[in-house]
Amino acid sequence: MPDKMQNIIALCKRRGFVFASSEIYGGFSAVYDLGPYGVELVNNIKKEWWKAMVQEREDIVGLDSAIFMHPRIWEASGHVGGFADPLTECKKCNSRLRVDHLLEDIEIFADEKMTEDEINKLFDTHKGKIKCPTCGKNDWTKVKKFNLLVKANLGNFADDWSKAPVYLRGETCQGIYVNYLNVLDSCRVQIPFGIAQIGKAFRNEITARQFIFRTREFEQMEMQYFCSPNQEMIEYEKLRQNRWQYYLNLGISEKNLKWHKHENLVFYAKEAYDIEYNFPFGFKELEGIHARSDYDLSQHSKFSGVALDYTDPKTKEKYIPHIIESSVGVGRALLAVLTEAYNEEQMEGGETRIVLKFPAKLAPIKVAIFPLLANKPELVEKARSIFNELKKDFQTEFDDSGNIGKRYRRQDEVGTPYCITVDFDTLQDDTVTLRDRDTMKQERIKISEIKNILIEKLK
Ligand code: ATP
Repeated sequence: MPDKMQNIIALCKRRGFVFASSEIYGGFSAVYDLGPYGVELVNNIKKEWWKAMVQEREDIVGLDSAIFMHPRIWEASGHVGGFADPLTECKKCNSRLRVDHLLEDIEIFADEKMTEDEINKLFDTHKGKIKCPTCGKNDWTKVKKFNLLVKANLGNFADDWSKAPVYLRGETCQGIYVNYLNVLDSCRVQIPFGIAQIGKAFRNEITARQFIFRTREFEQMEMQYFCSPNQEMIEYEKLRQNRWQYYLNLGISEKNLKWHKHENLVFYAKEAYDIEYNFPFGFKELEGIHARSDYDLSQHSKFSGVALDYTDPKTKEKYIPHIIESSVGVGRALLAVLTEAYNEEQMEGGETRIVLKFPAKLAPIKVAIFPLLANKPELVEKARSIFNELKKDFQTEFDDSGNIGKRYRRQDEVGTPYCITVDFDTLQDDTVTLRDRDTMKQERIKISEIKNILIEKLK
């Protein structure tokens, strides 16, 4: 794994951003917990997404659908029959790996729709060149398709479906599709309109590598936009531009973003692009933006028996709405933001400073307050009184442990844009030092002006 990735993983643990799940029990593969700074950062990422998708849009509304759903939904969506990844096992070390990923590594691209036979043929042609990434040997089992849906042991006593397995949802958008009619009937929306949702999804991922990039439990931020057949591609182009802009607004540099056009489309799709981010292990999918035609609502109409067509109030045209979607994993957005923000800087004395240069709006802590010395009650008291005021408006941290240099380093490592120090001058003239994370410059400001200055700087 590249050094930068190792450094980010170590920082995430050391500073309470991300912990491996169930660590004291030896861990639980491909599941992660967010620590105190991680949850603040993720909440800010989600807040920015919601702002761009819902708050600033008249034509998009929010939703929070349940994780458990009627089992037939997953038949209608095609997940029960087709949501499967091709799996092979190394006969020497028993590592289980995704065949499409192994092929991708040697620039051979498998098609998602391939049957087990087809993918076996393709793998047989190329497997001689593929070494096991764990043990380096070259001896593979036959490819098997492995379904990604996670079954839940939920008793379903009420209806005929009691024998069908209930699943933890594999994607959040199905909850949007099955609420399309409810939203249409209860809110003042007209096509074109969108429904946005943030929530957990679960997949039996075969290989779980690359930290929080691919996990078995993850959160998705998805927006499904319902439009008429002839608007679909126009709205799709708008959505693509809009989503690209979102990442620039998160402080991600354009050179680290790339479009990837899908060449092998599923039969119903009109067009599909991914936005890829330059993660420490290379450009990989961050978000999918797909034009899905009328497939989703047609399927749900067929399986539920409920008509889901729409009549345009002006033209009286009747059609099943077409859908364009934007779907991004919160964990991948988090990893992109961490990768972008992570900096190591050489200091004058030869020391290395690790600093997370988040845009202020994403920073978990906006400002930290220090008394210069912990053993001077007048300083501590003054610093506390400033802390107590600022915490009403900003995510604020009080710290009086260790020397000031150490406290600055700690805040740099969690990406706090500003630190305020209360010193002996403060007691004379009611001023404090305000230190900037990126320039490390300090300025003297009046206590009475702190709040307004911070509001301005944190914009
Ligand atoms: P991949 O090809 O990487 O497995 P996918 O094409 O199956 O992803 P989608 O089903 O389109 O992904 O899901 C939409 C988004 O959800 C992805 O762009 C990604 O950001 C996120 N996502 C999907 N699977 C995972 C996972 N196992 N862990 C974290 N995020 C995920």
